[in-house]
Amino acid sequence: MDHTATDRLRRMTTSAPERPVLFSLAGKRVWVAGHRGMLGSAVVRRLAAEDCEILTADRSVADLRRQDEAEAFVARARPDAIVVAAAKVGGILANSTYPGAFLYDNLMIAANVIEAARRTGVAKLLYVGSSCIYPKLAAQPIVEEALLSGPLEPTNEWYAVAKIAGIKLCEAYRREYGCDFISAMPTNLYGPGDNFDLASSHVLPALLRKAHEAKRAGAAEMVVWGTGTPRREFLHVDDCADALVFLLRGYSDAPHVNVGSGEDVSILELTRLVAGVVGFEGAIVQDTSKPDGTPRKLMSAARLRAMGWSPRIGLEAGVLGTYGWFLKHAAAR
Ligand code: GDP
Repeated sequence: MDHTATDRLRRMTTSAPERPVLFSLAGKRVWVAGHRGMLGSAVVRRLAAEDCEILTADRSVADLRRQDEAEAFVARARPDAIVVAAAKVGGILANSTYPGAFLYDNLMIAANVIEAARRTGVAKLLYVGSSCIYPKLAAQPIVEEALLSGPLEPTNEWYAVAKIAGIKLCEAYRREYGCDFISAMPTNLYGPGDNFDLASSHVLPALLRKAHEAKRAGAAEMVVWGTGTPRREFLHVDDCADALVFLLRGYSDAPHVNVGSGEDVSILELTRLVAGVVGFEGAIVQDTSKPDGTPRKLMSAARLRAMGWSPRIGLEAGVLGTYGWFLKHAAAR
């Protein structure tokens, strides 16, 4: 087998073999907090391939914004490991419309789950943050050390502040109590289970819906918010879930780790790609009354790559699969 084929095979068999396993999942009870979300459900799918027991809790069982409910659940379920994929998430409009809910809900989820994990002696916890924790004008690609080196992007600072608090809690608990809590910062995720509601979604699912509806209506144009020049990085949620399992197993240190594809596209390029996948051939029109947000958001993927992990789902293939999911599950809504 030539080198490239070996490489491809290694990527297809998920985590790179040469990294030592610091936390074995075999026989462990792993709670995926936020299992109904796009990322949480991808983590559940990914963990299903492992020899571990997956625990979940619906909001009716444990509302993680409530300390008593979060602590009671963790004390009862006794997980060995927790993946904190629970969060109140949304796109640029939702973030600016509901700053209180974005800040409070995400702060409470982080504090309650991390503290409950400490009290119960959970062996491993992985807190999931977001690339929006970085300063608006951070040098690109954004390295992990850029955290707290400048002002945040105002459209999502509420969410970002809560996520930064979660990362810092993991770091502080490692330092003060010796907890093996780590954190990962995924870039913009997309894929099955995404939110396609135009008022609260992120750009990629929004563009899929817009292109689909424009095509179906025989419209001459589809409208894209902002100037189309901002650049964003995208990662398929199944790649992200794979990276999280990789880190859960093989990473145990204080610094958070970026999880990205290492490549970005402009919103206009993305719109053309999405229109191509959907088969919309009309004009792309910009609505510049809508905000652009941060000009560019590309994270450095170097740290995770150096550990031996890289993504395997390209943007076009990923968008195609996501469009298939949308047609089946969300198009009618
Ligand atoms: P951000 O990455 O936190 O800025 O969040 P979004 O994914 O919501 O937006 C990314 C970029 O896509 C911004 O520049 C938006 O203005 C732009 N964009 C273009 N069209 C749309 C749309 O229909 N919905 C959303 N959410 N963003 C759009």
